[in-house]
Amino acid sequence: MAAYEYETHEYDVVVVGAGGAGLRATLGMAEQGLRTACVTKVFPTRSHTVAAQGGIAASLSNMGPDHWQWHMYDTVKGSDWLGDTDAMEYLAREAPKAVYELEHYGVPFSRTEEGKIYQRPFGGHTTEFGEGPPVQRTCAAADRTGHAILHTLYGQSLKNNAEFYIEYFAIDLIMSDDGACTGVVCWKLDDGTMHVFNAKMVVLATGGYGRAYFSATSAHTCTGDGGGMVARAGLPLQDMEFVQFHPTGIYGSGCLITEGARGEGGYLTNSEGERFMERYAPNYKDLAPRDYVSRSMTMEIREGRGVGDEADHIHLNLSHLPKEALAERLPGISESAKIFAGVDVTKEPIPVLPTVHYNMGGIPTNYWGEVLNPTKKDPNAVVPGLMAVGEAGCASVHGANRLGSNSLIDLVVFGRAAAIRAGKVVDRDSAVPSTNTASVDKAFDRFDGLRNAKGTVPTAELRLEMQKTMQADAAVFRTSKTMKEGLDKMVAIAGKMDDLQVTDRSLVWNSDLMETLELANLMPNALATIAGAEARKESRGAHAHEDYTTRDDENWRVHTIARVEGNKTDLSYRPVVTDPLTTEKEGGIALEKIKPKERTF
Ligand SMILES: Cc1cc2nc3c(=O)[nH]c(=O)nc-3n(C[C@H](O)[C@H](O)[C@H](O)COP(=O)(O)OP(=O)(O)OC[C@H]3O[C@@H](n4cnc5c(N)ncnc54)[C@H](O)[C@@H]3O)c2cc1C
Repeated sequence: MAAYEYETHEYDVVVVGAGGAGLRATLGMAEQGLRTACVTKVFPTRSHTVAAQGGIAASLSNMGPDHWQWHMYDTVKGSDWLGDTDAMEYLAREAPKAVYELEHYGVPFSRTEEGKIYQRPFGGHTTEFGEGPPVQRTCAAADRTGHAILHTLYGQSLKNNAEFYIEYFAIDLIMSDDGACTGVVCWKLDDGTMHVFNAKMVVLATGGYGRAYFSATSAHTCTGDGGGMVARAGLPLQDMEFVQFHPTGIYGSGCLITEGARGEGGYLTNSEGERFMERYAPNYKDLAPRDYVSRSMTMEIREGRGVGDEADHIHLNLSHLPKEALAERLPGISESAKIFAGVDVTKEPIPVLPTVHYNMGGIPTNYWGEVLNPTKKDPNAVVPGLMAVGEAGCASVHGANRLGSNSLIDLVVFGRAAAIRAGKVVDRDSAVPSTNTASVDKAFDRFDGLRNAKGTVPTAELRLEMQKTMQADAAVFRTSKTMKEGLDKMVAIAGKMDDLQVTDRSLVWNSDLMETLELANLMPNALATIAGAEARKESRGAHAHEDYTTRDDENWRVHTIARVEGNKTDLSYRPVVTDPLTTEKEGGIALEKIKPKERTF
């Protein structure tokens, strides 16, 4: 058995992750006087949330009429009827409150002439339950909204005495013998010391796993560590087959051009200079949801109307927009286009391609952020002591497809909800659970095994193999054949984890070991993604199955529950929550409005 000395810390709550979700949860916990630690592998303001450009959705009605029920309807339809209705109602209802809180905490939003928060149009956000024109619902701080939110939340968390453990890498959850989470084991990256955090509540806010793919808009740190930890604790992942491709990643680098660019009037063209979205989505055109636009772009390319020497991408046009608007509303992407595509957006179109952007799936939770471990008897059974929020979690408000600007609002609404819930369920006076040494030893054994891995396959090589396989076989369009092949390949690739080669054995700033731990986390996320996709015999949202081209609500309006152990994935299904929180009589949405129907734009 591997022996590592460790320091023990005791808290009411430990939040793992300091992105928008982790910081909003941390702040909410600390504000209530819970002793709160936030553990993060990167400096808080370097979390991927910092890169969010376009904005955060809330029905503030600053630019014209809007209503939370319209926002809820758009989210339900955007999710292609796979989201949980109670959670989607909670999101849309609480969104304005959560944004005003951000404003009062000090987020420097862009403003209208009258000094109200500026809001822009975004794909899939409409009025009158999808019958009216697009709505301006997305609150923005120029095209650096995530940056503004993250810095503000970090400052506020410090002000409320939350304690930060920065550049601490969480290795594994500590689980009690009766299945509760009682803490987390961490490795301090800069001095190699080990740390055990015991807590009454652990909140996973570790972000997405975009880096399971070859080309992604997400940071290199987005490696699904929370999903990995959960899978190793014998807990499931949900709806992992739904991976969002953003229509406008810069061709080549994958760097994101926000949907706000189309919100401000940009449009896509093919090699014939045609605004082809008018054909696919006559009403909402370039502002149809992302799955829709990504598929349309892919069809244009397949049918030979792509641009460039290899006819393999599409143009995004902004040069018709006033220079002042570009400078004021889209300064960041004007710069990115220059750096990553060598394009002056005031004169030329940007070459773009659908690029992996967001994971709709994640750790299943209820709308309070409590992690679920569904059983046949109780599909909503809660794991004591464990919460998940943000992109790591799956509440599920995005279902099969997330609407643009609905993630930032998800982070703050559910970060806040988790804090409200913890305020109720965490007993401040009880003792912090003592260290479960068996669980800690297990974590160290695994860590030590990877640290001393003497196999033949270097981590970077195996990672590339995984990324290329996922990119090719769990793509925008999927067939039974490609997914079956992809699954077989991924099972073989995950099998090679036993033959890894790590060359650096030190404990201080060992990036080889850190990337190996990250690969070990990416692997179960990737397996669950391709296995869930292969099994789902329908098309829904981001899952476009060429052999089953329509949505099948009778058989497939269910959440996929994937349990991954080693390279084996066990799939089962959990019913979608179809009841809203409130009835029409109580002021809620009319059930008639959110009944499944054909999804056109
Ligand atoms: C380029 C880009 C632009 C986007 N723009 C928008 C937008 O305009 N609007 C919108 O709504 N959404 C947008 N999104 C999506 C949205 O930004 C993300 O879904 C969201 O920021 C994720 O936040 P998070 O708090 O869940 O995780 P992250 O911000 O990714 O943070 C994860 C945190 O977990 C920590 N962590 C992870 N693993 C470990 C570990 N093992 N140990 C310790 N700490 C760990 C990290 O240090 C980090 O602090 C965008 C995404 C991208 C990639």
